[in-house]
Amino acid sequence: MRLRHKPWAEERLNNFPQYVVQQPESRKGKWHEVFGNNHPLYIEVGTGKGRFITEMAKAHPDVNFIGIELYKSVIVSALDRLIEADLPNLRLLNVDAVNLRDYFEKAEVSRVYLNFSDPWPKVRHAKRRLTYKTFLSIYEDILPEKGEIHFKTDNQGLFESSLMSISEYGMLLSYVSLDLHNSDFKGNIMTEYEEKFSQKGNRIYRLEAQFR
Ligand code: SAM
Repeated sequence: MRLRHKPWAEERLNNFPQYVVQQPESRKGKWHEVFGNNHPLYIEVGTGKGRFITEMAKAHPDVNFIGIELYKSVIVSALDRLIEADLPNLRLLNVDAVNLRDYFEKAEVSRVYLNFSDPWPKVRHAKRRLTYKTFLSIYEDILPEKGEIHFKTDNQGLFESSLMSISEYGMLLSYVSLDLHNSDFKGNIMTEYEEKFSQKGNRIYRLEAQFR
């Protein structure tokens, strides 16, 4: 993603602590208090400008959602969407997914979504892919037994390496589509990247995988 420097982004994020949770370490084990209910919690890692997570939160009011994004200049667009939609079941976190264990207890998260994650095509950068084994281990530590990750991308190389990484980790693949938009999958919610790349004619790959 090309990042545009937005020097005002930090102040804007700080101005909306009701949406962009500050000091998330202090919420570990207590996210039900943030949302005021015990609904399941689904997170999207690398939420970008937030279209997917906002539309998911609108469509599923009985689920709590958190969008996680590393860059302030990007998550600030997700904040704009959230301010406009004013959803009680959605929060944003401006953190690095590598530290997710600091913010969530085991089984506190019920599902992890990964959408159009950065492909890092060079072999020497494989460890940065969000489906690399070290990230799978992080997700396993915050999900319950048999917890699921749902992943989609238009990048064939990333999809193939993710299939390998997921099966080598010993996870169960419960759904695989090599052409999501021409499949019978119901209820797909498009991300910003999904719209852009499918309009260019790219195929969309999707999988669901379960820890054992
Ligand atoms: N999911 C969105 C979509 O489909 O439109 C955005 C896709 S974009 C290619 C990937 C996003 O993941 C970027 O915004 C990037 O900053 C974010 N990201 C990458 N690594 C991350 C990490 N370790 N922690 C949090 N966000 C990360």
